[in-house]
Amino acid sequence: MAKDNKIYFTPGPSELYPTVATYMAEALDRKILTISHRSKAFQEIYAHATQGLKQLLNLPDNYQILFLSSATETWERILQNCVTSTSFHAVNGSFSKRFYEFSGELGLTGIKAEVPFGESFTANSLTIPAEVEAICLTHNETSSGASMPVSEINKVRAKHKDALIFVDAVSSLPFPEFDYSKIDSVFFSVQKCFGLPAGLGVWILNERCIEKAKAKAAKHSTGTYHTVDSMLSKAIVNQTPETPNVLNIFLLSKVVEDMNKIGAKVLRESTERKAKLIYDYLETSSNFEIFVQDETQRSKTTIVANTKLSPSEVNKTLAPFDMAVGSGYGNYKEKQIRIANFPAHSEVHVEKLVSTLKTQIG
Ligand SMILES: *Cc1c(COP(=O)(O)O)cnc(C)c1O
Repeated sequence: MAKDNKIYFTPGPSELYPTVATYMAEALDRKILTISHRSKAFQEIYAHATQGLKQLLNLPDNYQILFLSSATETWERILQNCVTSTSFHAVNGSFSKRFYEFSGELGLTGIKAEVPFGESFTANSLTIPAEVEAICLTHNETSSGASMPVSEINKVRAKHKDALIFVDAVSSLPFPEFDYSKIDSVFFSVQKCFGLPAGLGVWILNERCIEKAKAKAAKHSTGTYHTVDSMLSKAIVNQTPETPNVLNIFLLSKVVEDMNKIGAKVLRESTERKAKLIYDYLETSSNFEIFVQDETQRSKTTIVANTKLSPSEVNKTLAPFDMAVGSGYGNYKEKQIRIANFPAHSEVHVEKLVSTLKTQIG
């Protein structure tokens, strides 16, 4: 394959964070791909990654961070470890739907509330049965670009004090500023907003999830190497049960360090400004039309638009300018484009994307 200089506005995998190439070289120089995952060198990398994430996400002390292979694995581990009979899922697209399906596939009872593609939820619109043990919400439905506002997520707890609240923030963290007293767990994959190669999932959970997992494990099998107990027993010494993705944990520790230097607040403000640039353009375009109708539910990190030109035509137009956007998801593959607005996409990149689309497509 020829050298590719494009900036990828695809929703994940996406453009790498600009410092990743340097850290890859550093990893090779320091033999990080060779060191043992039981070594002190690895434990330091692990600790640097988790401490950095705690700072960036402003996590309270009662939250633990676990490394898994992906967010898809995290869906399974949540259900396997923290649900004995019934989980509830707010379904509004392909990712939230898949999480819901896992419940039944694991022999649990999954209950769903569903809204049409392109819509999300308010706390009041959700009718959640009292008996559910877990409420699974998707902050940012990457397939449709519909986002559940954090202010709405925060209202769910008041009516459901006993249920554990899990939030899929795979394609939005570190953008959303969660109130961790209102949720129990949040998780993401690194190939979305963290601008890293795929193959690492991060599961953040509080003591309520851990207690629930212990109670379930006392009576049922909750898996093998990736039970919460097994992962925690290693996390305490900055290790994982298995040989993990050491390279990616290292890259995450470095990129998070960079993000902390900028600061979460500045990153959020920049994300807001870039999203506004994109939405303002889409609103006036003769070819594109913003897909999510409710302005309060429009994603700031994965922006979806209906398109008259096919996504491949759009990308053919963008190619000479070294840029590419994502196509629609599933049935919408040919009808929509998706534009990722992650920290790896600078304001200059976004300005260039918008001005090129404006002049070349209209
Ligand atoms: C990408 C994505 C996932 C799955 O992530 P993997 O790393 O592929 O497992 C889950 N949920 C949402 C909202 C996503 O965007």
